[in-house]
Amino acid sequence: MSKQVSRETFDQVMVPNYSPAAFIPVKGEGSRVWDQQGREFIDFAGGIAVNALGHCHPELVATVTEQAHKLWHLSNVFTNEPALQLASQLVEKTFADRVFFCNSGAEANEAAFKLARKYAHDHFGADKHEIISCKNSFHGRTVFTVNVGGQPKYAEGFGPNPAGITHIEFNNIDALKAAISDKTCAVVIEPVQGEGGVLPATPEFLKAARELCDQHNALLIFDEVQTGVGRCGTLYAYQAYGVTPDILSSAKGLGGGIPIGAMLTTSKVAPSLAVGTHGTTYGGNPLATAVAGKVVEIVSRPEVLAGVQAKHQRFVDGLNAINAKYNVFKEIRGMGLLIGAVVTDEFAGNARDFLKAAEAQQLMVLVAGLSVVRFAPSLVVEDKDIDEGLARFDAAVAAVVAAKRG
Ligand SMILES: *Cc1c(COP(=O)(O)O)cnc(C)c1O
Repeated sequence: MSKQVSRETFDQVMVPNYSPAAFIPVKGEGSRVWDQQGREFIDFAGGIAVNALGHCHPELVATVTEQAHKLWHLSNVFTNEPALQLASQLVEKTFADRVFFCNSGAEANEAAFKLARKYAHDHFGADKHEIISCKNSFHGRTVFTVNVGGQPKYAEGFGPNPAGITHIEFNNIDALKAAISDKTCAVVIEPVQGEGGVLPATPEFLKAARELCDQHNALLIFDEVQTGVGRCGTLYAYQAYGVTPDILSSAKGLGGGIPIGAMLTTSKVAPSLAVGTHGTTYGGNPLATAVAGKVVEIVSRPEVLAGVQAKHQRFVDGLNAINAKYNVFKEIRGMGLLIGAVVTDEFAGNARDFLKAAEAQQLMVLVAGLSVVRFAPSLVVEDKDIDEGLARFDAAVAAVVAAKRG
C-alpha cells in the first residue's frame, strides 16, 4: 500500500530546489486538471509548453499503451523501429538530415554545443571554440548549458565554469557583429526567448546571425526546446522566420509529456559525432519515440497548426480586453501559443502575484522571469476552455488589482 502524501510531504522528502503550488494534481484530461480534493483547474501552463496535446490525448494514450505492451527500452547497442520512424519524420519535415535523440532539452543543447565544438575542432582546429549566446537566454541546467545560458544567477556557485562563452544583447545585430570572429564555433539563439520573458527575435536579427555565421564558418544553433513542435504555429519556429540553422535542439512538446529530446543537424555537420564521441543510455528508447512520433504526426496536421494561429488571436484579444479593464500589462507578446503578458511598472517584479491569484481561481498559468505572466496551453485547447480560463484570469487580475490599489 502507498503512503498518504500531501504538499507537506514535499518539504519532508524532496530536495528544496522547487517551490510547487499548494495543490497536488492527480488527474488530467484535455486542458482540465483535478487535484487531490477533486477541485477542477483549467491548465494554461501546459507543463511548461510540454503538454502540446493537453492531458491524456486519446491518440497518445492509445500509442503509449500499444508500445507499453511491445518494447520499452533497449539502449543504443540496438536500434528500434519507433526511433527510426520518428527520425525519418523529422528529417522529412525539417531542414535536418540527421537526428540524435536524448531525454531533455538540456541534453539536446549539450549535444548541440558539443557537436559545434567538435565540428570546429575537426575542420578548423582547437582555437575555434568560442560560443556566442544571448543575454537572458535559457538553455538548460547542466554546467555547460547554464553557462551558455545568459542568466548568470543560474551558474553562480557551481564553478569553475567552462570557458570560451560570450553573451551579447538579444536582437542586437551590431553587438553580434562586434563579438563574432574566426574563433567563433557557434552562435546560439532561441527564436523566441521563453524563460527570458517570451521575447521573439526580430527576423532581421536571425537573418544577420545566419549571414555572420556563414562569413565566419560558425554554426548557427537554434534552441527550439520551447518554441518547437507547433508551439509557434509552424512545426518549428525557424520555418516561420525563414532562417535555417545548422543545428536545432528540440524537447518539451516533442514527447507531449513523455521525456525526450532531439538534436537535429545536417549531413555536413553530423559526422563529427562519430562512433564513441557522444551518447546516452535512454536516448531514443522505443517508448518515448513512439509517443513523440504520434505527437509530431498530430501536430503537423494543417488544422492543428492553423488552430494554433487562430487560438493565438483569441488569447491576445481576451488578454487585451482584460487589460482594457484593469491596465496592468504594458505589452502582450509572443508567437502562436507561447504568449507573455508584461506587467506595467506598477507591478514590476511581481508577475508571481498573478500566478498565485490565478491558482485561487483554479487556473494554472506560468511566469517568465519576474515581470511576465506566461501562457503555454495545449495546442488543441478548446475555445470554450480558453474563454472560461480567461474569465478566471479576469477574476485573478481583479483580485491582484484590489489588493494593490485597494
Ligand atoms: C526548458 C528549456 C530548456 C531545458 O530543457 P529541460 O528539458 O528542462 O532540460 C532549454 N532551452 C529552452 C529554450 C527551454 O525552454
